[in-house]
Formats: sequence, structure tokens, C-alpha cells
Amino acid sequence: MQQQSSQEIVLKAQDIHKSFGPNEVLKGISLEARNHDVISILGASGSGKSTFLRCLNFLEVPTSGTVSIHGEEIEVRKDRPANQRQIEQIRQRLGMVFQQFNLWSHRTVLENVMEGPIQVKRRSKAEAKEQAEALLARVGLQDRMSMYPSQLSGGQQQRVAIARALAMEPDVILFDEPTSALDPELVGEVLKVMQDLAAEGRTMIVVTHEMDFAREVSTEVVFLQEGRVAEQGPTEKLFNNPDSEAFARFISKVR
Ligand code: ADP
Ligand code: MG
Repeated sequence: MQQQSSQEIVLKAQDIHKSFGPNEVLKGISLEARNHDVISILGASGSGKSTFLRCLNFLEVPTSGTVSIHGEEIEVRKDRPANQRQIEQIRQRLGMVFQQFNLWSHRTVLENVMEGPIQVKRRSKAEAKEQAEALLARVGLQDRMSMYPSQLSGGQQQRVAIARALAMEPDVILFDEPTSALDPELVGEVLKVMQDLAAEGRTMIVVTHEMDFAREVSTEVVFLQEGRVAEQGPTEKLFNNPDSEAFARFISKVR
């Protein structure tokens, strides 16, 4: 039974296209995330990684293609979602962690993590506080809760952002280059938290340039080139025996 539930498709994107004016930046991308999958999205800058992630939770509306969560398809009509309530639900189910943290600067660390559950999930303050404290302890920030984001290092801010995403109890967490804005010595503490999340079975889609993380932690790799999937498959296969010359070149360059 365990086997069966772990194979359930949580998130499915089919043939996603996205144009900005005449510029087609996504040319038909498909992906399936099953329960407990950790999917790394790799590719050069400008290949469409962020746009694809943003299409998954409708921060960008795909020009065509479909996204479904647990089999529920989100309808798109003429560049806008047909049903705003559906979009709100999808955003709750897909947590997002951004390169630039995007914390609320005028709120404390604790308030940053409590806000979503109170506003969106209608949790009581006491309940949200208890949950936020536990999550912040889990990412190693129990002694920073009453500080403001500007008083923290980048690595600490990103860990707050991860706790904030977790507080919404998402089905999938999307990460867009979560360590790219960090000083090199702070990258490890964030990757460690992400590795722990993967180990506890969280379903994650991670845009990253951290090849060691992609190789050691992800179950599947999607390699984008100019808005197309150039290669996609199990991590071990791609790293040991890539089909495309382009992926082989890419990993040798990034290392
Ligand atoms: P990546 O994350 O892989 O670096 P992006 O998804 O950010 O790539 O960008 C892919 C392409 O789409 C780039 O050429 C970028 O300039 C373009 N693009 C992204 N967002 C927009 C936008 N809002 N308006 C116009 N062009 C955009
Ligand atoms: Mg990007």
C-alpha cells in the first residue's frame, strides 16, 4: 500500500507553453511529480526555469498547456485562469521559496511564518504561533524569532522563508534557486535544511545550480535548453550516462 501511495501523481504539467509578446520562452514542457519525488530543474540562465516554476502556481499564466494537482485540472481561458478560487487553492498546495527570500521586512521572523496560516488558513493566533515556533526551531532559528529579516544573514532569511512555506502545509514545495543569492559560506546551511525535507519525504521541485545537491538529493532531473526539455530522467542515469551531449557539457561546465 505504501508503494501505491508513494506513486500517486501529485503535480502534473502537460505541454506548457509561455510567450511574452512574440517571444516564446517555454515551448512545451511536461513534468510529473509523484509523492516524495525531488525533481531538480537544471539549465543555463535564460532557459526558462523560473518561468516554468511560475507557470506551475500561476504566478504566470501559461499560454497553453495544463497543470493539475491530484488530478484536478486548472482551466485556463485566453491567458487567464478560469477560476480564481482554484488558483488560490493551488497556491496553498504549492509552496514557493524564491531566490531573494521575499520576506516581509516590517514583520518579525515569527510573524512572517504566522501570517499565511492566519490570513489564508484562518488559524487562530495561538495555533499559528505554536506551529511557527516549532517550524523555526526545525530550521535552527529558535533564537531569532523576534528579530526582523534585516537583522539576519541571507542563509537565516532563506531558512525563515522555508519555514514560512512549510507553515502552509503544501503538497509540493517549489524552490527557485534558493541558494543563488547567498554568500558561499551560507549555502550549506540552506541545502542542509532542504536535504532534511527531502529525507522526510517532502515532494519538491528545485531549480538549482548546485550540482552536488541535484545529484545526491534529487530523484529526477529535468534539463532545459531554450524553453525545451533537452533531457529528463532518473538522476543516476542522467549524471552517469546522459543521452545528450548538451547535458554532459552543462554538468562539466558547472562543476
Ligand atoms: P531562467 O530562470 O532559466 O534564467 P527565465 O524563466 O527567467 O529563465 O527567463 C526565460 C526567458 O523569458 C528570458 O529570455 C527572459 O528574458 C524571458 N522573460 C522572463 N520573464 C519575462 C517577463 N515577465 N516578460 C518578458 N520576458 C520575460
Ligand atoms: Mg531563474
